[in-house]
Amino acid sequence: MYPASFEYFAPTSLDEALETLERFGDEAKVLAGGQSLIPLLKLRVTAPRALVDINRVEGLDGLAEKGGRLRIGALVRHKTCERSDLLKQRYGVLGSTAPQVSDPIVRNLGTVCGSVAHADPQGDWGSALLAIGADVVVRGPSGERTIPIDELFQGPFMTALEPGEIVTRIDVADPGARAGGQYLKLERKVGDFATAAVAVHVSLSNGTIGRAGIALTGVGPTNLKAREAEEALAGAEPTDEAITTAARLAAEGVEPLDDNRGSAEYKRNVVRVFTERALRASVAAAREA
Ligand SMILES: Cc1cc2nc3c(=O)[nH]c(=O)nc-3n(C[C@H](O)[C@H](O)[C@H](O)COP(=O)(O)OP(=O)(O)OC[C@H]3O[C@@H](n4cnc5c(N)ncnc54)[C@H](O)[C@@H]3O)c2cc1C
Repeated sequence: MYPASFEYFAPTSLDEALETLERFGDEAKVLAGGQSLIPLLKLRVTAPRALVDINRVEGLDGLAEKGGRLRIGALVRHKTCERSDLLKQRYGVLGSTAPQVSDPIVRNLGTVCGSVAHADPQGDWGSALLAIGADVVVRGPSGERTIPIDELFQGPFMTALEPGEIVTRIDVADPGARAGGQYLKLERKVGDFATAAVAVHVSLSNGTIGRAGIALTGVGPTNLKAREAEEALAGAEPTDEAITTAARLAAEGVEPLDDNRGSAEYKRNVVRVFTERALRASVAAAREA
């Protein structure tokens, strides 16, 4: 099917993009990598009056540290993250997530910011960013604001973004010297969305766990934090018992649905096993860091 007709705009500055969005209100959509939006247009699941293509806006494609924080610009593609030594070395869970997002064709164009703006509960970046902790920086008609990632997702494909707002970048705080992370994803075949997946980030402090971030994909209406498991680990020694208890708490805290990717019971068990494995790997990486 062809998309319904729309007006197409390709602004070269953020101000111009914001003005165009404001003019059309909730009848306009931002176009970034197009890897989620274009299929939805073709299926006529969405039929905006205007598309505001931000690909020519300057200054949105940076992936770098600044002022002790990692900045992921709105036009940073999954592929750029996959190739980034900075992510592999210092932001383990992000470096581990990038190559597991879909397939190389999607990764060439799809963006991290587009992924969180789209808020698919099966999206991989949402969990990775929840685990490590991130701020979503947004520009809109009334200026700039920052949304903590754990306040962004409000339901399946629903976020705290207002019409007319553009995610300009995602900021991640420096995880410190003794940190590690991993993303483990079960998919039916390469390129598929997750049956279930677990993102873990661990920071050690004097041999104990300073902060553990655990987030889950595909087992709820949004990417979810496993808060009870995180709280059980904070300040604890990373012993076998602490890790298996946290993994059990993560699994007990979710209510996945039966679907063609697997039964609820199966997905809950994947969460338990993957949380345990990812915690062990993250603690080992943090010790070696
Ligand atoms: C075959 C296929 C398989 C896939 N598999 C996976 C997978 O395994 N895991 C996974 O995580 N993803 C997967 N995806 C989705 C992919 O990662 C998309 O790239 C991503 O979800 C959206 O990023 P995008 O830049 O393409 O956004 P677009 O498609 O351009 O936009 C998506 C939505 O976000 C909004 N948006 C985009 N950028 C911004 C912004 N800067 N500010 C405000 N709103 C914005 C758009 O208006 C639109 O509503 C798959 C996609 C395809 C086609």
